[in-house]
Amino acid sequence: MRLAVLKERRSGETRVAATPETAKKFVGMGLEVAIEAGAGLASGITDEAYAAAGASVVPDAAAALAGAAIVLKVRAPEEEELAAIPRGALLIGTLGADAEAAARYAAAGIDACAMELLPRITRAQSMDVLSSQANLAGYRAVIEGAAAYDKGFPMMMTAAGTVPAANVFVMGAGVAGLQAIATARRLGGRVSATDVRPAAKEEIKSLGASFVGYEDEESRQAQTAGGYAKQLSAEFYARQAEVVAAHIAKQDVVVCTALVQGRRAPTLVTEAMVASMKPGSVIVDIAADAGGNCALTKPGEMVVTANGVKVLGFTNWPGRLPAAASALYARNLHTFLSTFWDKEAKTPKLPEEDEIVKGVTLTRGGAVVHPLMNPAA
Ligand code: NAD
Repeated sequence: MRLAVLKERRSGETRVAATPETAKKFVGMGLEVAIEAGAGLASGITDEAYAAAGASVVPDAAAALAGAAIVLKVRAPEEEELAAIPRGALLIGTLGADAEAAARYAAAGIDACAMELLPRITRAQSMDVLSSQANLAGYRAVIEGAAAYDKGFPMMMTAAGTVPAANVFVMGAGVAGLQAIATARRLGGRVSATDVRPAAKEEIKSLGASFVGYEDEESRQAQTAGGYAKQLSAEFYARQAEVVAAHIAKQDVVVCTALVQGRRAPTLVTEAMVASMKPGSVIVDIAADAGGNCALTKPGEMVVTANGVKVLGFTNWPGRLPAAASALYARNLHTFLSTFWDKEAKTPKLPEEDEIVKGVTLTRGGAVVHPLMNPAA
């Protein structure tokens, strides 16, 4: 059975869905692994390294996909890739799960697994691509913020005087935000953070940051059963904004990570808040991929405001650490496939009733089966 790994074609995508480490494990599972030439280069992985791991490196996507039963991707396949995936193949990646994409996979006869829909349960942690990538994004956001900030993070006492510690404020304390807090603390920043989920407050404090936020009866119910933040009322957001506005005016670096699943990122930093910040301050918006938490964020760009605040709205934050991001992403996919693997038959075995399988499966046997994509299912 052939497993194909393609070079990612989307502009700015530096990651790859398998590494020599996971390719070797797939070969050990009885798979023939075909890697499109150059697939790992942007992550620092040579074709020779894949070949040494037992994979065959083939010249192009069509050659990799010919006869493939399993296809691994980071991002959704482009039209021409999709057309070359054999009917009946299993496609695994972050597939941009929406009804329109699901319909295309169904029409192509592909069984598509969208890993970004993985349930956030303990058993699924080692397959959780959102967590592995968000962790790196949180780290990288602070590194980029520190580089763009024109003073240092730690308090530095020198013979020429003292440089004060940077005030760093992290908005959203999920996986990315907690890593951002830890990274900013390691660099010596004075760190505070906010979130709406009640559980986040203790996590923020346990990392040595102070909690800043508005809490009321509504925010005590702000978490869904899946662990995500709920969309809250306009009144709540207005109260939160009052508390945050006074705090932001005193910050040097603000790291935005707040998301509400399936929606545009909430706007938490208004234009007026940015105007209240000191020149030289930095806003790093990891939520830029989902529209951004800052009203001035331009996805993919760095904006410098009239009052000298830099707003970093880069997209694909984990892709800025391609080797680490690919290594973790590839392990997530390997864990998924090896968990749902028939060792005797050496084929995938995805039980329809399994919570994880049900969570990620968009299409099966030419039909859209995911309840989020197909309310009738
Ligand atoms: P996320 O990326 O969806 O959102 C980032 C953070 O933004 C969240 O903490 C959210 O509460 C926060 N947020 C939303 N609106 C906000 C607002 N108005 N102001 C401030 N903050 C706001 O979150 P995530 O990192 O994917 O984590 C989601 C949940 O899943 C968490 O409870 C996390 O602990 C849990 N989780 C569980 C597992 C697992 O068990 N397998 C793995 C990863 C995450």
